[in-house]
Amino acid sequence: MKWSKYNYLFTTKKNKKLLYNSITNNFIELNKDQYDSLQKFKENPDENKHIISDELINAGIIVENDKNLYYSLKLEKQLTKFDTSYLALTIVPTAACNFDCTYCYETNRPEIYMDDITENKIVEFVKSYSEANRLRVTWYGGEPLLAFDRIVSLTEKLKAVNTNYEAYMISNAYLLDKNVSDKLKSLSITGLQITLDGLQETHNKRRPHLHHSDSFQTITKNLDYLFETNKDIKVALRVNIDKTNENEYHKLYDYLKTRYNTENLNIHPGYVTNIYSSCSSTGCEFDREHKNEFVLKQFKEHNIPMSLYPKTSIGGCTARHINSFVIGAKGELYKCWNDLGLKEKEIGNLHINEQFNNKLLVRYLVAADQLDDQKCQNCFFFPICNGGCPFSRIANEFEDEDIDCCHVAKNNLKQYLELHYENIIENE
Ligand code: SF4
Ligand code: SF4
Repeated sequence: MKWSKYNYLFTTKKNKKLLYNSITNNFIELNKDQYDSLQKFKENPDENKHIISDELINAGIIVENDKNLYYSLKLEKQLTKFDTSYLALTIVPTAACNFDCTYCYETNRPEIYMDDITENKIVEFVKSYSEANRLRVTWYGGEPLLAFDRIVSLTEKLKAVNTNYEAYMISNAYLLDKNVSDKLKSLSITGLQITLDGLQETHNKRRPHLHHSDSFQTITKNLDYLFETNKDIKVALRVNIDKTNENEYHKLYDYLKTRYNTENLNIHPGYVTNIYSSCSSTGCEFDREHKNEFVLKQFKEHNIPMSLYPKTSIGGCTARHINSFVIGAKGELYKCWNDLGLKEKEIGNLHINEQFNNKLLVRYLVAADQLDDQKCQNCFFFPICNGGCPFSRIANEFEDEDIDCCHVAKNNLKQYLELHYENIIENE
């Protein structure tokens, strides 16, 4: 029996003895004797076998072989990847957008609106997945609310095909007026992701509406009504952060928390990457270290609850899941959201009765797979990292990119766990 490589045993600055395990995601406080005996076992398992107990084995702290744990995890990930019990579609009812965000990767946003024929093709496509007993739709764009009528008509048809239907929307919320808000429940839209990039002036500069100067005011008013009338809706409010607006995050956070006193609002940073964005020329994106500094600063200096505690990561995204697709406004099929509008990244088209572009499909499903990556296989962070974004992994392998895929806490785990621990104790 040996010490699991997924253990992280450490002492805090205040001399607390703690043990975190990345595969079970358990975090425990130890007394000095427990800590000392585990430390001895870690250093010399053969001479300290007497400490082995069922409790330590069941907790995954002492293991026969870490490989067994890795293989169980691998199986779970494979089953998730090839789970055909549900179909997940990201649907773009229009490629058009009423904003012109400075960092948008969809630089070419043609005025394409989905037509009736494509709508019916989507319905046929869903029908062909008869083994899927759940249908999850994410409305995406462009700006999906520019094609609200399409969302209404397609929802009606999709719900008739699969009654186990649930939807989510990613929108800039400029058109989320009373009429739209009032219809969200009947459209089974249970959550929204909305983006604000700072307070009024900053937001309006970074995310300008094409014709109106103050989208911040319209969006916040729309949210007033939404939260007042829909007590179930969950809003993930994303703040796209780079080096040019990072100092405004806490101000926006405080402003929104004061204006909307609801647990249904979850504010989080989204980091602008240099892929297809303005940061590629200005270098304004954060690297991993900068992300860490940013997270810790919000927590320590501004008392903002950040996600410090690692989460186990099993499932992947649309790109890696066999039954997940992104459908463009003209019926094009993709595996990754980043590929929208790129002809060479289409894996098929609903209007063309041909097989999928298998080369691309296979690449997204299994190429540059973290499960085959020796570095990931041996990595303590693997259960909570899952190898990072597949798009980046594939770009690194096939397009000569050098994108950092590693977990944000990779060099700072101790600090994250220590702060998390203190936060729990202080709030007890
Ligand atoms: S591959 Fe990466 S960018 Fe593409 S959908 Fe998945 S997580 Fe998003
Ligand atoms: S991507 Fe990096 S942090 Fe994540 S599992 Fe692989 S080596 Fe570890």
